[in-house]
Amino acid sequence: MTTITERLSQVKQSLPPDITLVAVSKTQPAEKVLEAYTAGQRVFGENRVQELVPKYETLPKDIEWHLIGHLQTNKVKYIAPFVNLIHSVDSMKLLEEINKQAARCGRIINVLLQIFIADEETKFGFAPEEAENLFDNKTFADYKNIKICGLMAMATNTDDEEKIRKEFRTVSDLIKRLKDKGYTDLTILSMGMSSDWKIALSEGSTMIRVGSSIFGRH
Ligand SMILES: *Cc1c(COP(=O)(O)O)cnc(C)c1O
Repeated sequence: MTTITERLSQVKQSLPPDITLVAVSKTQPAEKVLEAYTAGQRVFGENRVQELVPKYETLPKDIEWHLIGHLQTNKVKYIAPFVNLIHSVDSMKLLEEINKQAARCGRIINVLLQIFIADEETKFGFAPEEAENLFDNKTFADYKNIKICGLMAMATNTDDEEKIRKEFRTVSDLIKRLKDKGYTDLTILSMGMSSDWKIALSEGSTMIRVGSSIFGRH
């Protein structure tokens, strides 16, 4: 049996220094988060607001909290005061609500647009062409309390490495095109989880979201 500290350092040792590791602590009790925190980890990702808020309240305040899962518009208000990055913006309605709640808090909230690339119907996000059109039409210019920092995507859950690689490449090609069009704020490409982060990094990911390889499965 390895410990959280050991597994965390294994992942970190194989990461280039400019890659951000988001430790996905969903379903893990606060003690486990604290163990990773004590080992030096500061960036944590949660997929449910109901779990994120109590963890934010009880855990050290220098933790950077990311929301990585599907977010319902009626829950934005609970995380708007403190969230550091929302990875999973998958509709204009949600973006509008984040902007509104950010304004109420006097904040600018960092977000990523989630891009849909996988086969599974359960995965949320904008189609790549749809996202590109939104940028081309300057749709985001009015949202003064939001900073779009990049894109996020999840690949199909499969053993077919080439398929995963192709899906990731669709998103890295998209972010490259957008940067070439002048959207230089798009510095974050959030791709890769426990099973596929090595592929994601080789396709240009800058931020990986790793849960079970650090915390184990339970
Ligand atoms: C759970 C989750 C992860 C981490 O998955 P692991 O396979 O446990 O590493 C990454 N991203 C999202 C959006 C998740 O919900």
